[in-house]
Amino acid sequence: MTTEVLPKEEAQGVVEEIVQSYPKKAKKDREKHINIVDENFPKDTKCVPKSNVKSRPGVMSVRGCAYAGSKGVVWGPVKDMIHISHGPVGCGYYSWSGRRNYYVGHTGINTFGTMDFTSDFQERDVVFGGDKKLTKIIEEIEMLFPLNKGITIQSECPIGLIGDDIEAVARQMSKQVNKPVVPVRCEGFRGVSQSLGHHIANDTIRDWIFENKQVNTKEFGQDIPDSPYNIAIIGDYNIGGDAWTSRKILEDISLNVVAQWSGDGTLSELVNTPKVKLNDYTVTVL
Ligand code: SF4
Repeated sequence: MTTEVLPKEEAQGVVEEIVQSYPKKAKKDREKHINIVDENFPKDTKCVPKSNVKSRPGVMSVRGCAYAGSKGVVWGPVKDMIHISHGPVGCGYYSWSGRRNYYVGHTGINTFGTMDFTSDFQERDVVFGGDKKLTKIIEEIEMLFPLNKGITIQSECPIGLIGDDIEAVARQMSKQVNKPVVPVRCEGFRGVSQSLGHHIANDTIRDWIFENKQVNTKEFGQDIPDSPYNIAIIGDYNIGGDAWTSRKILEDISLNVVAQWSGDGTLSELVNTPKVKLNDYTVTVL
């Protein structure tokens, strides 16, 4: 295959041709996503396409929300914890087990990925608040699934709009059940896509798992022999089992994978991650 290099003026003409059919406002927006590389000064060329910007209706508008980023990608695949979709039932239902992030385990005993837990908000909860309901749900979860290793609260839009104090519930319930209960402020209206949900969820791993003031999360880690070859795989949520393949390749070259998350991951692996010598970040394109 050969690549034809166009003179700059001619290339500019091609760009004009591409964007001319758009309405004025959309044209201005789309122009920012197309750029011409100056052969003489390639390093001066602006990076395109623009990312982390709001979608324009009709143009690449199929994107998830912050809740989807946290529930579907970062927290949801952590299999031995229970993730409550906190808010109306629809968000939880439509994010229920739809991502094929594979895991091994016994459902309802040490894995909960294919189960859907929701607080099923009704108008009454929106008007009077849902904190009491959340407390009750966590108590019920503890009664029905006592082998869960911890609980996360995945906030849907109404939670942020009505200002429920999920952090207070999480602190109180963490003490009561002596496990991490992690409040995640991933309401869908935040940010421009599900990407912010990834950031928010990862921040809660730092603040509520690595540095939890309510429970000693270190107790939830496993003893691992110290080795210069201990590594963690971070950022692969195991769609169709791809993280298992990465893991196998790394183990075949004698690296010791002590943590893998979030796909097929566990609380114990999250806790162990700071002990490793290298984090192998996987880039996930969304
Ligand atoms: S945008 Fe809000 S209401 Fe819609 S799925 Fe996301 S959290 Fe739920």
